[in-house]
Amino acid sequence: MLLGLFVKLIGLQTEARRIHTMSTILIPSLYAMSGVCAFAALCGVVMAYILVRAGAYQAPTVEALVALRKWEATGVCLIYILFPWFIAGFTGVRPRRFLIALSVVWGLILATNLTLPYGAQFAELPTLTYFDLPWGERVVDLRVFHPSLAHKIALLAIVAVMAFGVYAGFDQYRRGLKMRTLVLAWALGIFFTFILFNWAANWRIIEFIHLSEFGFLAMLVMMDLEIMRESRNDKRRMRDLLDQLPVAICLKDLRGRFQLTNQGFETLFQVEQENLLGKTAFDTLPQELAQRFSIDEKQAIESGKGIEREHVLEWNGVPHIHETHQFPLLRPDGTVYAVCGVYVDITESRQKDAALNKFRRQLWHSDRVASTGAISASLAHEICQPLAAMLNNAQAGLRFLNHDPVDLAEIREIFQDIVRDDKRAGTIINGLRAMLQQQETPFTDLDLGQCLEEVLTLLHGEVILHGVDVEHRLEANLTVRANKTQMQQVILNLTINALEAMADQPQEGRRLLICAVREEGKAQVSIRDSGIGIAQDMLERVFEGFYTTKPQGLGVGLDVCRSIMESHRGAIWAEANPDRGATFHFSLPLVGGDAAQGKTASA
Ligand code: ADP
Repeated sequence: MLLGLFVKLIGLQTEARRIHTMSTILIPSLYAMSGVCAFAALCGVVMAYILVRAGAYQAPTVEALVALRKWEATGVCLIYILFPWFIAGFTGVRPRRFLIALSVVWGLILATNLTLPYGAQFAELPTLTYFDLPWGERVVDLRVFHPSLAHKIALLAIVAVMAFGVYAGFDQYRRGLKMRTLVLAWALGIFFTFILFNWAANWRIIEFIHLSEFGFLAMLVMMDLEIMRESRNDKRRMRDLLDQLPVAICLKDLRGRFQLTNQGFETLFQVEQENLLGKTAFDTLPQELAQRFSIDEKQAIESGKGIEREHVLEWNGVPHIHETHQFPLLRPDGTVYAVCGVYVDITESRQKDAALNKFRRQLWHSDRVASTGAISASLAHEICQPLAAMLNNAQAGLRFLNHDPVDLAEIREIFQDIVRDDKRAGTIINGLRAMLQQQETPFTDLDLGQCLEEVLTLLHGEVILHGVDVEHRLEANLTVRANKTQMQQVILNLTINALEAMADQPQEGRRLLICAVREEGKAQVSIRDSGIGIAQDMLERVFEGFYTTKPQGLGVGLDVCRSIMESHRGAIWAEANPDRGATFHFSLPLVGGDAAQGKTASA
């Protein structure tokens, strides 16, 4: 049985190493159990020694009987020194001073036993008597008829140990640990029965030999079994929990060998658990995958901090996007003893996001086409104006050519006017084309002030049509890294929204203020109107997809503006003006930060 326990102990300790850190209940339980097993082994050795020395309770002389009882009492004292600590370990009830005092008393009894000529039990040399066991075997009568003072104190100390056991049992009951209470009660019951048995034997009520140590062993086995049951349950619960988590988890030692994996890991990487444990990722996973993960692990171990990353990897012919978190597990002194990896396959959600974004962009494109349609009348006017001016100038030029002599200065001026008008018409048409095109343009260094001016030129006619006074305050050299088409779209959307918000206001109060300023390394644009305004609790809602208060509105404009800003590492937000109307702000990081921009601006 002891050998079995020992084998179990080795197995459990290996297991304990594997699931280290996974549980604060499991590990102390495993250690307690290994302690119990080790102590059971110790008791077994002491017993075996006694039996061998005593010739199976068959002392041939009185000196041999005294020696036998001395060894036996030594074993008992050792048991009682450690027993209360076991109960404390098992139950978590630890009155330290009491436990130390009890151990000291038992230590003194042990010392007395080893130093007195007849041991701790006999006050004087006993007489050697025998009796026959029911099955005919003749054994030495081990009863103590003239106990020493140490023997009497030992009986009191046994009562103290028992009382502590009962107290700890009650504590477990109070804490609702019914199973533990039951085990403790059962084990103490067995132990107490043996003590009663011993007492009855000494009082000649029962004519049989001393057996309380075996009671103690029975109790150890009971505790051992209970702890094993609890640890098995904990392990199962832990396993179930890990397996149910919708992510892949693995725990590796510092040499990169898998110590634990969950079902999610096995499914995600399509490897059996048996083929993982004890092996490295290079032995079990595709090499590129192993290589990438090991770089992150190494970094996590070296820095002692968690590493989060996204990996796009192709394996089994399918591209996968993995979001990975690698973090080290630390001992109390801060040294790393293992590294834990959590992997989430986000391929599907990314595909959904991409589809949703595409859909939103298409929707917005239709919205843009619609809004450009709405301003087409004013646009036509804007384009016709320079065209008409060019025609007039060309006709005037022709007339001047008939003069003699030809006034070359006048003709040069006419050509300059034609060039200016052509450029103006060109700006409007280009701006329109840029805004209506659907393909992506690359990120470039962009002057935000210039971009604002271009959109405002495009909207010039619309602004006049709405009878709005526009004021600009644009700082120079606000260079940001951005996609020009998208920036124009954001500015256009915010400005058209502002114009629409003022449509129902009295004409004299319609004011639009557009500012672009440098602020803490960022360029901030504010578009302030004096329209119907936005209620405080709606300032966030207006950015939600499909939120609109306009009969013809789609409600995607601000939603897309926010996603454009996010993709530019910028921000967009709305504010209700204290007097009237609303202000929309957006900010973007300046190229080279505030200082570099400041220098350029002042140069
Ligand atoms: P749409 O213009 O199609 O309604 P948006 O996403 O551009 O879609 O705007 C959503 C809503 O936010 C608008 O319907 C309007 O109620 C509100 N809103 C946007 N800009 C302003 C503004 N400047 N003043 C008041 N309300 C605004």
